[in-house]
Parts: sequence; structure tokens; C-alpha cells
Amino acid sequence: MGKSIKEQIREVREKAIVCQDCEELVKTRAQVVFGAGNPEADLVFVGEAPGENEDIRGVPFVGRAGQLLDEVLKRNRLSRQDVWITNIVKCRPTKISDSGRLENRAPLMGEIRSCQKWLDAELSVINPTAIVCLGGPSSSVIIHKSFKITQERGQWFTDTMYAPFVIAAYHPAYVLRLHGELYDQAWEMLLADVADAKRKSIEEKGQPKMTLF
Ligand code: URA
Repeated sequence: MGKSIKEQIREVREKAIVCQDCEELVKTRAQVVFGAGNPEADLVFVGEAPGENEDIRGVPFVGRAGQLLDEVLKRNRLSRQDVWITNIVKCRPTKISDSGRLENRAPLMGEIRSCQKWLDAELSVINPTAIVCLGGPSSSVIIHKSFKITQERGQWFTDTMYAPFVIAAYHPAYVLRLHGELYDQAWEMLLADVADAKRKSIEEKGQPKMTLF
């Protein structure tokens, strides 16, 4: 008998958490933040990169953006055990601020490219029916290079290598930066996109999965 999905994901994780490929990130990270949740899930969320809280706890989306994501899941009657949550880059990218503190920065192209092997490996084991890309950077990796989040969120893409159905939604950290009516609108869109993704992952569960890796 072949290895179970749990065993396979454990093997990918074990290799990923000792990765030394990005010299800068290895120097400043506390640990590699591998994906978490249910590796047998039909629905996967892909964010950008761990921040400070994730780096400390070793779990994706556990800071303020993660709390908002938890609320979005809850409102859609989903829990972290129903889905898999990961990032395109698995180590926290940092820079030194003017006051000398380490702060988050966006991952570099080279870091995204170098980390893609772990994303490829984890998604090929999980083989989800639907993926929600949270924000522009993960959409550019998974959907297409010149992705424009404001124009293309909420649409289904059926021609990616990672899952039969992929949708992009606003990143929770982006929603948190908005105020008033803009916040309400973005929050509703995020909620609706996740609702749509849940529906799709249930309706299309029987679809042939991707076999590209
Ligand atoms: N933002 C992300 O994109 N990923 C995390 O894990 C946390 C915040």
C-alpha cells in the first residue's frame, strides 16, 4: 500500500523545515513555517509569507491577519481542521527598520522562486479541489504572473497547475488596513469569495485532480 497523505505531508514538512536555501532568511528566521491544517482537505488557502507571530509560533496566519481569517472561516462554518493554510514563502522575510528593529518585508522574487518547490510538493500531496489565493503575490505565483487583485479577485481560474479551481481573494492584512465603508466592502468580498470557494470545493469534489507533478 502507498503512503498515506498524512505520512507524505509529514515527509515534505521534515525536509522543508531544515531548508537552508535562502541565506538571508535562514539568518533571521526563528523557524520555517510550513502549512498547517488538514492535509486531506479539498480547500487550501495560500498567503504570502509568515510575519513575526508566525515566525515565533511556527504556524501560518496566527497574528492579526490570521485572526481575521479565522473569523472569515467561522462565518462560513469552516475551521482550520477543514482546510489547509500555507504561504508561498515559508520563512519570515525581514528588514531592519530606521529604529534598528527587525520588521516584515515583502518576499523577494528569488525567495519566492526558491520556495516554490515546497509549495509544489505540499500541493501535489494535498491535491486540493479548490485554492483561495490570499492577495496579489500568491495569485501571481499560482494563477498568472501579471495578476491584478482588484480586477481579478472573485473569478474562477481553471487553467492553473495547482488545482482544478483557483480563486483570489483580498489578503486579510489588506482588509485590516482599510477603514469605514472601504473596510466593510473588502470584508464582505473576502467573506463572499471564501463562501464561493467552500461551495466549489464541495460541488466539484469528484473532479479529476491535477497530476502535473
Ligand atoms: N500573512 C501571510 O501572508 N501569511 C501569514 O502566515 C501571516 C500573515
